[in-house]
Amino acid sequence: MTGRWVELADGVLVRRYRELDQSLGLIVGDGACLVVDTRGDLVQGAEWAAAVREVTKAPWTVAITHSHWDHCFGTAEFLPSDVWAHEGCRADLTATGIKQRDDVARRYRESGRPDLTELADLISVVEPVLPDRLVRDRAELTVGGRSVVLAYFGPGHTDNDLVVQVPDAGVVFAGDLVEQGAPPSFGDAYPAAWPTAVDGIIGLGPTVVSPGHGEPVGLDFVAGQRDELTRIAELSSEVAADRCSMADALLRSPYPADVLRTAVERVRTSRSDVAK
Ligand SMILES: [Zn+2]
Repeated sequence: MTGRWVELADGVLVRRYRELDQSLGLIVGDGACLVVDTRGDLVQGAEWAAAVREVTKAPWTVAITHSHWDHCFGTAEFLPSDVWAHEGCRADLTATGIKQRDDVARRYRESGRPDLTELADLISVVEPVLPDRLVRDRAELTVGGRSVVLAYFGPGHTDNDLVVQVPDAGVVFAGDLVEQGAPPSFGDAYPAAWPTAVDGIIGLGPTVVSPGHGEPVGLDFVAGQRDELTRIAELSSEVAADRCSMADALLRSPYPADVLRTAVERVRTSRSDVAK
């Protein structure tokens, strides 16, 4: 068995995968369903689509939480379908989709691990699908009579993180704005803005939040992560401005050295962007 279902509320499920500790969402309404993210290659996408079909035969709509390959390279297996995402997701996939694919495939091949080499072969044939239903700030969908809100709270983990809220169930699918089981990932992040985006999730008042990676969590966990992200925002800004050494910052960092270093790099990049 490659995945397991966890029911978060009536007709709101998350499917958990060992690969990347990933969490995919399914919201089932009356005669329609919404799939949150599509996994990282066509075989993974097909398995995920088949798992959805075991729960419901209803036609689906797809929502993508952000433009990272592991969340959207399985989309072709769900076509034909509307594919919702933030407008920045389409822009980023247009700009970096092929590069993401080639970079990940190369990294996996270079790992020398047979399981990752196999994944590299699968990833390398993906033609990224561009979302066609675009959200700027907020969109409200009706999924088989059920209201589902797609909301954007500004940059954070990327510049296009869309959260999927099911108000009648008290559930939010947070994408990688929230991560359980590992530190949040800063490779494409906006460290100074990220805590505000998480505040947006907290403001929705959910009972359960499903991260893009890791187990479902409650609001206490999300608030704790917001505080850690705030600390990283402060430390990375101080180090980038040469007001604090990396060694001193690490003593106060909630996350390991590589995470803080990436955050500092991201602060420096965004400053040089502004200076241009
Ligand atoms: Zn991500």
